Amino acid sequence: MNTAKNLWAMTHLSQYIGLNVSIIDSLTNEVGMRGMRGEMRSNEPMSQHTSWRVGGYAEHYYLPADLDDFANFLRILPPNEPIYVIGLGSNLLVRDGGLRGTVVAVHAQLNELQLVEQNQSGGLIFASAGIACAKVARFAAKHHLTGAEFLAGIPGTMGGALAMNAGCFGSETWDVVEKVQIVNHSGQVLVRQNSDYTIGYRSTNLRPELANPRATEWFAGGYLRLPHGNQTESREKIKQLLAKRIDSQPLNLPNAGSVFRNPPGDYAARLIEACGLKGHSIGGAMISPKHANFIVNTGNASAADIEALMMQVQNKVKQETGIELIREVRIIGDARRNA
Ligand SMILES: Cc1cc2nc3c(=O)[nH]c(=O)nc-3n(C[C@H](O)[C@H](O)[C@H](O)COP(=O)(O)OP(=O)(O)OC[C@H]3O[C@@H](n4cnc5c(N)ncnc54)[C@H](O)[C@@H]3O)c2cc1C
Repeated sequence: MNTAKNLWAMTHLSQYIGLNVSIIDSLTNEVGMRGMRGEMRSNEPMSQHTSWRVGGYAEHYYLPADLDDFANFLRILPPNEPIYVIGLGSNLLVRDGGLRGTVVAVHAQLNELQLVEQNQSGGLIFASAGIACAKVARFAAKHHLTGAEFLAGIPGTMGGALAMNAGCFGSETWDVVEKVQIVNHSGQVLVRQNSDYTIGYRSTNLRPELANPRATEWFAGGYLRLPHGNQTESREKIKQLLAKRIDSQPLNLPNAGSVFRNPPGDYAARLIEACGLKGHSIGGAMISPKHANFIVNTGNASAADIEALMMQVQNKVKQETGIELIREVRIIGDARRNA
């Protein structure tokens, strides 16, 4: 019954979004035949996996059982298959036309979290890419390690934090990362050092001389080197940090945090507010009246509404101040095709 229903849904949705059912079937079959242990879905609504709660369907959506399964899955994918590894989708806008290719969702699937080393000065924590940042912050505090408290306020995964160099209140992810575990397109799992990357404000790039264009790689986990601290003080710091966020951010409506990076010496929110854009909306997307660098989904926003609003903000701020706002959120997928 379920299989028949799924097949119907697959065929129906595939026609709607213009996908080729035989391709979907062949990859789904491949997963079954090769004994993959994860869960393969087809035509998965990405609105269920992004914090903005918008976006079209992903052609394939794979939930790896663990890192081995993830690596094996990468080995069976056709070489030209587009792959999108995602965490909690808290920095992601998926366009309404959806995604061709495969989304690999690692949240809670790659879920190792352990204290791998302890010495007189502190400790080394390993957190898999699928572990929520808040969990890492609490784990560090519990083990009397300090410096990871800021992660409590980032509603993403360790993998997302590594990819974005996520940060707040003066700290950034890579400040505490000693090395990372990566998995590449060929399914190899390797360890890379902090110095292998060029780290910037909300950006992480493998140094060009190390990058292999034919072997894209993703973060499987991070090793965080942290000094000794005090559990009670860390917990208090986390509490204060979360309270500050509740005060200043529109957390009651779907959003993706700060939409634009802060330009050098200024704040994107200040510039947007100065242009009179607070509360301005397109369709169901609105510039939050509480925090001008947040775009909230007031209920029925489409990805196109959100993207159009972003562009309007960029144009207006450029026109009025000469400053070019750079997007912090990542946009993927196709615009909706006309029927
Ligand atoms: C309310 C709110 C507050 C926020 N506050 C902050 C803040 O203070 N500071 C801040 O920096 N950000 C903030 N963000 C944005 C967001 O939480 C961070 O960017 C976070 O690091 C994204 O993690 P994620 O797991 O959700 O990544 P996703 O949104 O799933 O992915 C983001 C990008 O990272 C890539 N990626 C994800 N996992 C991996 C992986 N394992 N390997 C390689 N690439 C990967 C994705 O392909 C994508 O390009 C906020 C968001 C919200 C909704």
